[in-house]
Amino acid sequence: MKIETVSVPTDHYINAKRVSGSAGFEVRTPIDNSILGACAAGDGDLVDRAVGAARAAFRAWAEAGAVARGVVLRRFAQRIRENNAALSIVESVDNGGLRHAIAAHIIERSAQNIEFFAGRAEHIGGEMVPGSTNTDIVAYEPAGVAALITPWNGPLMLSTWKLGPALAAGNTVVLKPPELAPLSCSLLANLAEEAGVPPGVFNVVHGDGSVTGQALADHPGISRISFTGSPQTGRKVATAAATNLVPVSLELGGKSPFVVFASADLDAAATTAARQYFNAGQVCVAGTRVLAERSIAESLLEKIREKVGAMRVGDPRDERTSVGPLISARQFERVKGFVDRARAQGAEVLFGGRQHSAGELYFEPTLLAPVSQKSEIVQNEVFGPVLTWQIFDDEAEAVTLANDTVYGLAAVIFTGDAAQGERVGKAIVAGTVWVNSFFVRNLAAPFGGFRMSGVGVEGGDHSFDFFCNIKNLSINSASFLQGTSSVWRGP
Ligand code: NAD
Repeated sequence: MKIETVSVPTDHYINAKRVSGSAGFEVRTPIDNSILGACAAGDGDLVDRAVGAARAAFRAWAEAGAVARGVVLRRFAQRIRENNAALSIVESVDNGGLRHAIAAHIIERSAQNIEFFAGRAEHIGGEMVPGSTNTDIVAYEPAGVAALITPWNGPLMLSTWKLGPALAAGNTVVLKPPELAPLSCSLLANLAEEAGVPPGVFNVVHGDGSVTGQALADHPGISRISFTGSPQTGRKVATAAATNLVPVSLELGGKSPFVVFASADLDAAATTAARQYFNAGQVCVAGTRVLAERSIAESLLEKIREKVGAMRVGDPRDERTSVGPLISARQFERVKGFVDRARAQGAEVLFGGRQHSAGELYFEPTLLAPVSQKSEIVQNEVFGPVLTWQIFDDEAEAVTLANDTVYGLAAVIFTGDAAQGERVGKAIVAGTVWVNSFFVRNLAAPFGGFRMSGVGVEGGDHSFDFFCNIKNLSINSASFLQGTSSVWRGP
């Protein structure tokens, strides 16, 4: 398939060979909802072939050692950087993400995801835990074949976030890219090959989640499942993992609070609130519930209205655009349905609320109030450019409202009081709480969701813990003092 001048493979990638499927599925661009072409769709046999290739490649890759793997993975990161122009246009056309943001941030971050873990892997291994009779040596061994299943809102960013630690730790992988935006991940396989990732180490199978994704999650040859997507699918993946007794990591949805206290820098808070509409609100950590302290609510609302009014909705390839399209007609109807039902329940549209003139899949940045805490629009993830507006009177009420959903992925707090930032940050149940900032992600820091937002923690050493069998080698120290020459050589 050609995206502008870039040739993108649409076949599966197994054992370093492109494999066409018996069936295919339509790939559309959300920019104008037109059909770009077809992508191969894998069935159970195809998935079995990919897992078989990954299993066959496992031993050699695991035994190559972290340093040798690091050399290959750093080249892989470099190929990602060198292909910024191709990757960014392909991903933008494929999922409607802002090309300028993908080119400026996402591609570099994807390269860093690989590079960071490549470097980190060289430093994990052999902790010694001395005891009175035995010395315990904790070894980090690669688990086997990892299934990586990712969503459409950040195909490159989220795939590399999993690929980096899985491959660096010595696992081989089968990646199932999102069927709504499969192209950038397909291109990624070419770059891995060019970098020298050996055949079978990195495999890609395309297809519908309920068929290809499910077959991958169900496969008994898989040793780890790392999944990012919706809670509904997360449950199915967790069920498959339970059947095979395989560790699973679930990064799921959110309905994050965006809390603004009276002492906050209101301009900064308003600018950041407007950023929640980026990617048309299709961001898992977006702070979609704005909670404003009563005394500054009116003035904050005016500032947010002004900032959002200055944002351009339109073609995501245009560098002036801040808000692109929704991913599909189905997602558009879903978002519109949420807004229509909220209005029927008494919410007013403070701004936005309808289709944008930019095209079929574009929705105006929308703010709704009044909304009751128990209403659907406050409780459920919309995954579109739709925020709610609520007012609180004191810190305790802010925390109660912030915590009152089934999710626990992220939160944003704006305050001028450092002690308050820390206090409220600790009181909010969320895997990541940003104070006076948003979307800053240190690769070494933990990332994960609580409650319906996920199971497990990724980031830094947590990612390695997940992708490794952590083994205890308990050695009778005295036996070596008596003359054996064996020496522990590390992983
Ligand atoms: P989704 O759950 O529909 O799909 C995610 C992936 O799972 C896709 O590749 C899909 O093909 C696959 N899949 C679908 N059914 C499957 C099955 N039965 N078995 C195995 N795999 C299956 O999610 P989506 O609509 O692509 O993404 C949006 C969701 O992802 C939102 O809820 C969003 O909040 C969440 N998300 C979370 C994070 C995070 O880090 N927590 C990041 C991005 C997106």
